[in-house]
Amino acid sequence: MLHGRRAAVMMRAAVRAAAAAPPRVGRLIAVRGAVQGVGFRPFVYRLAVELGLEGTVRNTDGHVVIETAGTEEALDEFVHRIVEDAPPLSHVDSVVLSDLPVAPAANSGFRVAPSDCVDRDSRGELPPDIATCADCLRELFDPADRRYRYPFTNCTNCGPRATIIRDLPYDRERTVMQPFPLCDACAYEYGDPTNRRFHAEPVACAACGPQLAWQPIGSAIKLATGEAALQAAVHAIAAGHIVAVKSLGGYQLICDATNAAAVSLLRERKRRPTKPLAVMVADQVALHEIAEPSATEDELLISDARPIALVQGIGVLPAVVNPGTNRIGVFLPYTPLHHLLLSELARPLVVTSGNRCDEPMAIDNDAGLVTLGGIADGFLMNDRDIAVRYDDSVVQVTGDRPRMIRRARGYAPTALALPVPTRRPLLGVGAELKHTFTLASEARAVIGPHGGDLEDVDSFDSFERTLAHLSRLERIDPEIVAHDLHPGYLSTQFAQRYPARDRMPIQHHHAHIAACAAEFGVTEPVIGIAYDGLGLGDDGTLWGGEVLIANLTGYRRFGRFSRAPMPGGRAAIKRPARMALGYLFGVEGFDDDPGLAAHGDFDPFRGRLGSGEIDTIRRLVGARMGSPFASSAGRLFDAVASLLGLHDDASYEGEAAVALENAAADGDFGEFAWKLRRVDGLLVYDVRPTLDNVIRAVAERADVSVVSARFHQTLIAVTEALCQEARRATGLRTVCLGGGVFQNRRLAAGVIEALVSSEFHVYAGEQVPTNDGGVSFGQSAIAAARTRRD
Ligand SMILES: [Zn+2]
Ligand SMILES: [Zn+2]
Repeated sequence: MLHGRRAAVMMRAAVRAAAAAPPRVGRLIAVRGAVQGVGFRPFVYRLAVELGLEGTVRNTDGHVVIETAGTEEALDEFVHRIVEDAPPLSHVDSVVLSDLPVAPAANSGFRVAPSDCVDRDSRGELPPDIATCADCLRELFDPADRRYRYPFTNCTNCGPRATIIRDLPYDRERTVMQPFPLCDACAYEYGDPTNRRFHAEPVACAACGPQLAWQPIGSAIKLATGEAALQAAVHAIAAGHIVAVKSLGGYQLICDATNAAAVSLLRERKRRPTKPLAVMVADQVALHEIAEPSATEDELLISDARPIALVQGIGVLPAVVNPGTNRIGVFLPYTPLHHLLLSELARPLVVTSGNRCDEPMAIDNDAGLVTLGGIADGFLMNDRDIAVRYDDSVVQVTGDRPRMIRRARGYAPTALALPVPTRRPLLGVGAELKHTFTLASEARAVIGPHGGDLEDVDSFDSFERTLAHLSRLERIDPEIVAHDLHPGYLSTQFAQRYPARDRMPIQHHHAHIAACAAEFGVTEPVIGIAYDGLGLGDDGTLWGGEVLIANLTGYRRFGRFSRAPMPGGRAAIKRPARMALGYLFGVEGFDDDPGLAAHGDFDPFRGRLGSGEIDTIRRLVGARMGSPFASSAGRLFDAVASLLGLHDDASYEGEAAVALENAAADGDFGEFAWKLRRVDGLLVYDVRPTLDNVIRAVAERADVSVVSARFHQTLIAVTEALCQEARRATGLRTVCLGGGVFQNRRLAAGVIEALVSSEFHVYAGEQVPTNDGGVSFGQSAIAAARTRRD
């Protein structure tokens, strides 16, 4: 097999060497990579016609097969240009050439042949959805065009893909477009090799394609369709109502972002009190009216994937959109329907997943009405089914690199490479929060779309469906299932029931480090810094501030943060004040230090929490009841946020830590005290001197923004010191960062900068989320590497 550009060059050499052969020869050419759903067959067709070749091009299971004949020179040029001029959305991994015993007859022409379903063993590259292209956008707003204002306009360069494909090979009959027979005009475009819609599978127009429908809630207004439905939705949003819109990968709830009352109503009905809401704006001009994206962020926002990017806001939108932070999630429209809504409303819109609380997003018309009936005032529906649920992706630029926070629409299910190919097909079932799964076969790993927190029946059901769908499309029937050590996760319980030949338990933070290493192809041992909320350790305690010496097959724990009790267990995650009291009353003590006991009656708490709660927690911790110990970096951030009076409660995991990051002043204010100790063979960051300084600073009424900045600086210094110690002990100088705490940009950028200046090689996830959304990929990388060792 030949690869990429080199394939073409070597082919040319081979062809030249055979220059004495007869003037016309037959060739079988198999092209693999991202070559379906991206206009590849029309491209091959046009090229073949241009070069005067005969034969056919067809999709087979996942790759494109060309049977052709022509002169050596023409075939040489053909293969060269297949690689060099491939369509922008495609990616050629390999071109395999062989002789064709019976060459197509001379002057028989070139055509696109029907897809071939016989070859069930090879896998397809399942393309992600692509934002509306400039050509389709022009047609959408051109009164002379027959697709003027048609909300499902698309072509071979853009439109839905992963969300409409029911099976491969990618042909209309195996998509949700199957019930929409093409009208004559669309059929002509579909069959015309010179047309931009030649073999565009989801092609449609107002005469033959899906239609909008408007369903008001609790109103006598009649159900409307088409343009009238769009106008009804526009009027509802303009009037301050909430509209549920069936989008590409599921329902979205939309309201006027400039109307504080509408946004508050959405929050109240969705029971989402404070978590920032994403805002969609018409174009880059509108974007710069509400935010100050960097050049890298601008580029990310206009990319074909059109993710939500977290950028610096400029405070012109009501505070209720993103309370307590000046960072804001923004995105540009990615469907014609979004463009139409924005052009009518001419204002930023709040767009959030169409779900209740943390449930999965509604995708069916009927289910949408039931699920969102209590939230939306009206429904803008359509009759195109959604094959599988895809949320919007979320990306954040840290250290000038885009880094995935939520990998879904536009990115999933693009395959990533495993550095050590697996000998047997496998499934990584992931963890619990921000859940994903990963399917892998040989060196290909497909991370499924973000599935939310895997905590209830609905999200579990959605996980099972999405897994069944992707494993069928990818033709991966897992023989190995890798899972977390935590027996309470629904994913672990699923793995234990799964009919696989082998099950492989994998420690949570090892998976985090492996996810980072594998993304960058690192197979050598590394210093792994895993900072996150919680994960079960191999000693039965909860971990989350860990230094591991790890490679893809194993790890050794080298260091950790101090342990502190979590009063009431999981309840402490949603109540950072409890966590702060946990540290005050029960942080791990070491022989020669007075600890934090002197601060047990931290003054500000008496005013805010009341003596009842303080006494209860003191008793719980003292009696070691229901208060598991955790060496967690995430919980330490929570505790400090509460000590500073930023958040005593959190409506979602990590909220307090986010507030702490947002509070930090720019500039260098130095560090607080910190100490590393040797405890039972591990290097331990003793957090007591740091917390002691924080508490004193609060007592002295120091500026919260300065205290936060100094706390971040302390953690950066501690992390660098831990890495220096690990390098001294092992000689390793490569560091992989993992865990949700590294979503903190100030911490991540600071740690990367400090380590790079100390001559470490540092890696931090980009395509793979650093949070628990990356755990399934890490599990898969480890399981794959272990199949080589077994
Ligand atoms: Zn297009
Ligand atoms: Zn049509």
